[in-house]
This record gives sequence, C-alpha cells and structure tokens, in this order.
Amino acid sequence: MAEIVLEGITKRYPDGALAVKDVNLTVGDGEFVILVGPSGCGKSTTLNMIAGLEDITEGTLRIGGDVVNDRSPKDRDIAMVFQSYALYPHMSVRENMGFALRLARTDKETVTRKVEEAARILDLTEHLDRKPANLSGGQRQRVAMGRAIVRSPKAFLMDEPLSNLDAKLRVQMRTQISRLQQRLGTTTVYVTHDQTEAMTLGDRVVVMRGGVVQQVGTPQHLYDQ
Ligand code: ADP
Ligand code: ADP
Repeated sequence: MAEIVLEGITKRYPDGALAVKDVNLTVGDGEFVILVGPSGCGKSTTLNMIAGLEDITEGTLRIGGDVVNDRSPKDRDIAMVFQSYALYPHMSVRENMGFALRLARTDKETVTRKVEEAARILDLTEHLDRKPANLSGGQRQRVAMGRAIVRSPKAFLMDEPLSNLDAKLRVQMRTQISRLQQRLGTTTVYVTHDQTEAMTLGDRVVVMRGGVVQQVGTPQHLYDQ
C-alpha cells in the first residue's frame, strides 16, 4: 500500500514566496500521476515536499497511510529521479545501480540479482560493466532509473527526467518509462512541462498554475475539453 495523500499542502519559502497553495491530491496505490504546468507553477516544489527535500509549511502528507511531514527523505521509502543523472563517474553501471543496496548491507547475491533484473527491464544488460562516461544520454538516464528501482521503493518521484535528452530519445524513453511503471506497478509522481509527456505517460494528469491545482483528469478527459 503506497498511496500518497496531500491534504491542504502549502509552501511558503523563507523569502515569503508562496509557491504552493492548499493542494489536495490523492495518488492511488500503483497509480501514475503527471504534474504538468508552466515554469514556476509549483510542480517541483510539490514533488520536493513529497520527497522530503523541502519542508511543508502547512498541510498533511501521508505515504502508505503514515503522516511523513517530519520524516527525512531516506525514511520515506521513495526513490527520486532527476533530469541530471548524478551517477558516480568512477563506478560502473553495475556498481552505480547496486550502490544503495550495498549501503543498506544487502547481501551480495541479492544485489547482483536485483541489479541484473533491473538491467534486463531497462535494456542495460550489455552495458553493466561500462562507466557512465561511455554511455549515451538515454543510457545514463536508464541507469539513474535502475538505481531507483533496485531498492523497490514505495513510490517513484521523477522531475523532468527526459528534459536533457533529444527528441528521438525522449520518444524511446517515454515507452521505456511506461513499460517500467506497468511492469512494476509502483506509485509514481512525474513532473513535466511537456504536454506530450503529460498526455501519453500517466493514468491521470494534474494541471497546476500559480501554485494551485487547476484541473485533474485522465489524459482523455483533459484532451476532450
Ligand atoms: P516549477 O517546478 O513548476 O517550475 P517551482 O516549484 O520550481 O515551479 O517554483 C514555484 C515558485 O516558487 C516559483 O515562483 C519559484 O520562483 C519559487 N521558488 C522555487 N524555489 C524557491 C526557493 N528556493 N526560494 C524562493 N522561491 C522559490
Ligand atoms: P541509446 O541506446 O540510449 O539510444 P544511442 O543510440 O545514443 O543510445 O547510442 C548508440 C551506441 O553508441 C550505444 O551503444 C552507446 O553505448 C554508444 N555511445 C553513445 N554515446 C557514447 C559515448 N559518448 N561514448 C561511447 N559510446 C557512446
């Protein structure tokens, strides 16, 4: 059970900027929700509050039924994928993907099994022994996703994961992400300003504007309007 529930979530930055205003949203267990809207509308701030990277000014955040407002990011059991890959350059793909598991003292065989399983899903098997410098942008982004999925988190949070890639790769990666989410069934919140991603990737789209939720619906429902 990894429902994410935002109740009256508000963010005021220390300089006084009101970035997110009274957002109410439930992301169902296994659901794939896209947060979309123009630059500055509060998407990243909302995602960062779910991740625990920004404090919540007002409101209640629940993940899997627990109130997590005061929990550190690592105690929320979520995995985040950013547009910058932040891979460790001196480590191979295999080492990058297994890093968090090794840190958590997972036994060697389990690390190998989980890394190889993730590599299969993400078409990275033949690249496991390469260093990030020898990979394409799309491959690096897949390694970043692999690193997230090996931990089997309760939820994935993705912030514009495709925005550094060229158009052709973005199309390929959209397919990969859909496949991955369907296969794993992990609750996912995905931030983008790209309408195509919003309309093709998720189960439900949340349109934000000026820090508030303006519309919520299935892609089909929003498209028909
Ligand atoms: P988006 O992800 O939709 O582009 P953000 O969540 O990054 O929007 O930003 C929402 C609003 O909050 C913007 O007006 C932005 O300028 C402001 N903001 C973002 N980060 C900070 C910060 N660290 N301090 C002050 N204001 C911020
Ligand atoms: P993708 O499979 O992500 O679409 P590309 O089509 O961009 O990757 O890359 C094709 C091949 O070229 C891949 O096997 C990749 O490993 C290799 N490649 C891409 N960029 C580099 C690089 N900077 N250094 C070495 N090999 C690279």
